[in-house]
Amino acid sequence: MDKFNIILHTTTTCNYNCSYCDVIKNNKTLSDQDIEMIVNFINKNYKSINSFKFFWWEPLLVWKNIKYIIEKTHKKINNQFEIVTNTSILNDEILNYFKIYFSKIFFSIDSEKIFDYEEVFSFIDKYNLEDKTYFNLIISPKKEETAYNQFIKIYNNWYKNFNILPVYFTKNWEKENLLNLSTIMKKILDKAISDKQLKLYWFQSNKWYNSSLINWSLFINTDLKVYFSDIVSTHIWAKIKDKLFLCDLDNLSLDEKIDMKSKTKEIEVYEKVIIKDIKGQMQLHELMDYFSKYLNNKNEL
Ligand code: SF4
Repeated sequence: MDKFNIILHTTTTCNYNCSYCDVIKNNKTLSDQDIEMIVNFINKNYKSINSFKFFWWEPLLVWKNIKYIIEKTHKKINNQFEIVTNTSILNDEILNYFKIYFSKIFFSIDSEKIFDYEEVFSFIDKYNLEDKTYFNLIISPKKEETAYNQFIKIYNNWYKNFNILPVYFTKNWEKENLLNLSTIMKKILDKAISDKQLKLYWFQSNKWYNSSLINWSLFINTDLKVYFSDIVSTHIWAKIKDKLFLCDLDNLSLDEKIDMKSKTKEIEVYEKVIIKDIKGQMQLHELMDYFSKYLNNKNEL
């Protein structure tokens, strides 16, 4: 039986305003009735769910909804919840849920904003979250060195899980900045080759494809429509939303054959069209693809 990674939007609101952000912010939140439908869906399909991730915008703005879903489904989902958060709304209750029910927690750290290292480090230590915490290191053009220094600061504090994310799709990358990015990528990857405890999440799980923002997961939008990828939550990809539409949630059964593979190939073709007019994006994808292979080839030697 196929198992699926599921991504859910719980809100389309965020309390940050990152310069590279392209997500469609229209302040929608799931209603109580919608949340019940999600709970029913999980409880009906749990045998085919590999992971269930709360992602995009700032999911913790609607913590009460996330908490409710977890409480009603955690026995079925078997603690395979995941979350991506900008870390602005952490507290003890949330961290305790992370500890008990989550398998992966992604803390986004971006090179444009101040990040409260001390608070985040102390939460990780207090709740023993080291093994399941990943730092999403977001790298903007012209901020490559800043991002590298952020990486070193976290690495030197013994946290070893990273997800390296140069800004995809929305920013022009000049040649000089791509060269700077190559320099810091090489330094980070060489550390990962010599220090086997350092894990670069996307690179090491994705040998066959470049590491862009696209997740190969079924994605449930706030209007309870299901898509083949969460990438449709951005303006740039919303233009081809209808091509990535699968069905309404109430018609979704994970027992039935869902052809992710051929859709994945289709998305790769769309991606090439979308990035071709954004300066440096094609080269950015090639560069990250090159480094993904570089790391995996070295690790196999
Ligand atoms: S990139 Fe993420 S944290 Fe930044 S504004 Fe957009 S949704 Fe919020």
